[in-house]
Amino acid sequence: MKEVELIKNGKRVDGRLPEQMREIEMLVDVVTRANGSAKVRFGNTLIVASVYGPKELYPKYLQEPETGILRCRYAMAPFSTEERKTPGPDRRSIELSKVIRIALEPAIFLEDFPRAVVDVFVEVLQADGSTRVTGINAASLALACAGIPLRDLVSACSVGKINDTLVVDLNGKEDNFSQADMSFAMLPSKDEISLLQMDGLLTKDEIKRLIEIAKNACKKIYEMQKQALREKYKGE
Ligand code: ADP
Repeated sequence: MKEVELIKNGKRVDGRLPEQMREIEMLVDVVTRANGSAKVRFGNTLIVASVYGPKELYPKYLQEPETGILRCRYAMAPFSTEERKTPGPDRRSIELSKVIRIALEPAIFLEDFPRAVVDVFVEVLQADGSTRVTGINAASLALACAGIPLRDLVSACSVGKINDTLVVDLNGKEDNFSQADMSFAMLPSKDEISLLQMDGLLTKDEIKRLIEIAKNACKKIYEMQKQALREKYKGE
């Protein structure tokens, strides 16, 4: 791919340092009809996740007698990108729905809800890179807000390599022109990784270093998630 200047005098296109995340905002309980919901903003990437359930799964033949089922749907609003996105599911949104489910599943005590389903909807209102990880952060908050029993919250971030520099939380432009990028999710208090996807080429040492950077970022995100939940119950 054509080399694009993404780092100039040590600063990234939006003025950040390599290991600096964008401004982050988190708010829970934003969709009143949902059992749990959250809005998460990483810079210009804005996502609302809502959770419905657990409820009995229909049609019945889809039920699992020993466990509950998690269903995730990732969708990008037509107005979320610079050029209008065609509404409706596409190959990418089907894949990202699955990726988000895989990242969340290890955190949920699904075995507590045999024959039931928990539905998670991740709606991208504005996309500027790292939407799947921002969606995972929002979904995890929404699950907690819905009172679904969790082993831990799931915290997620992206890391990557741009102009031979390792960076955290890639924005849209960085994502498009990166040499490599990685989507990372973990259960921070258990130190368990639930998602690690990579695109591009990295050395073994770079991968190790990026995992370290991602873990540090996830720990900060985890604290913000807990704070957002505390805000909800403050004064109740
Ligand atoms: P992620 O958002 O998880 O990083 P991708 O790597 O597939 O997933 O997408 C990177 C970025 O490219 C998105 O965050 C978004 O800003 C942009 N993008 C994705 N799909 C579209 C689309 N259909 N139209 C315009 N921009 C898009």
